[in-house]
Amino acid sequence: MTENLNLFTSTQVVIKEALEKLGYDEGMYDLLKEPLRMVEVRIPVRMDDGKVKVFKGFRGQHNDAVGPTKGGVRFHPDVTLDEVRALSMWMTLKAGIVDLPYGGGKGGIICDPREMSMNELEKLSRGYVRALSQVMGPAKDIPAPDVFTNAQIMAWMMDEYSRIDEFNSPGFITGKPIVLGGSQGRDRATAEGVTIIINEAAKKHGIDMKGARIVIQGFGNAGSFLSKFLHDAGAKVVGISDAYGALHDPDGLDIDYLLDRRDSFGTVTTLFDETITNEELLELECDILVPAAIENQITEKNAHKINAKIVVEAANGPTTSEGTRILTERGILLVPDVLASAGGVTVSYFEWVQNNMGYYWSEEEVREKMTEKMVTAFDNVYTVATTRNIDMRLAAYMIGVRKTAEASRFRGWA
Ligand code: GLU
Repeated sequence: MTENLNLFTSTQVVIKEALEKLGYDEGMYDLLKEPLRMVEVRIPVRMDDGKVKVFKGFRGQHNDAVGPTKGGVRFHPDVTLDEVRALSMWMTLKAGIVDLPYGGGKGGIICDPREMSMNELEKLSRGYVRALSQVMGPAKDIPAPDVFTNAQIMAWMMDEYSRIDEFNSPGFITGKPIVLGGSQGRDRATAEGVTIIINEAAKKHGIDMKGARIVIQGFGNAGSFLSKFLHDAGAKVVGISDAYGALHDPDGLDIDYLLDRRDSFGTVTTLFDETITNEELLELECDILVPAAIENQITEKNAHKINAKIVVEAANGPTTSEGTRILTERGILLVPDVLASAGGVTVSYFEWVQNNMGYYWSEEEVREKMTEKMVTAFDNVYTVATTRNIDMRLAAYMIGVRKTAEASRFRGWA
């Protein structure tokens, strides 16, 4: 039998288990097993060739018992409704794990921004906000960057919402350019959060980060910043990859050179003749493996071939449930996505707080506050995992879902 790779149904399984362990009944699972609101929209855009193309977009709002829903919008050809549903649930978990006053939300548009002009991207971004402006807002649902979306796209979306609302609304969206109310450090926050988590996990395994061998799958926003931070801290990045292939050097790659040559979508391996595949990259011998690209990368097929001491998930959903089981059985410490990648939404929260009060913090202040949240979150999850003898993913889900379940109960929703 092959493993179920549907992110939505596999997320439901872990949420159910987490709620059972916390002592909640079937009614609570019934409430939290899917988003309270799932919207599908169609967005007509006049393309540069004069023809109209209609794009399909989604927004999922999992649960707003704790506070407004929060989460990114991805622009990708493979976006599906089920994926957005699952991702909105993960955002509830992330917010719970780092203790933010939010529920989870997520959005996506089926499109390929690599093949679109700036003009087309602007129209699409503004069209998405027009289609959803009634259900989004600074106190309702707050979007942010995700796969293939960036500060410029956030700026267009903020401007469109502000026009509709007839009110300058920086708190509508996070991940904005600094001059429009963006926060210091937001662009690198996910990678900084992952770095903090890697350091904490390495301490538990007695790994010295100086000279530690690191493999990173993906060279997008998270993967590229992460390779830089780890390289600068003295670790040896021995493998990196993009969507087209991977590079390997047991003596450590020249990260500054690769960062200099990557394009804005994170592509760099196409410049090299000697490459290996993404599958081979995942099996390289190393101390820490960081999947920072896409879903379903470590599965029942390759989990027994993983040659790392620690796996830290910087991407959303890179390890399947069977993959998790195999790695845990093999004694590999797996730090789940909902914990490891929570640095982004943490600094998004700080951005929203700064927008709401109209007073802005220095990069140092933001970093300090983020570090405190991430270290506390790691300790909490690690303690639950070790004291209850469960894997880190289940422990993270228990902590992540608890606040939303409790708030829902007080509101009389379950
Ligand atoms: N898209 C990011 C995530 O998946 C960030 C969300 C946010 O900043 O709200 O966590």
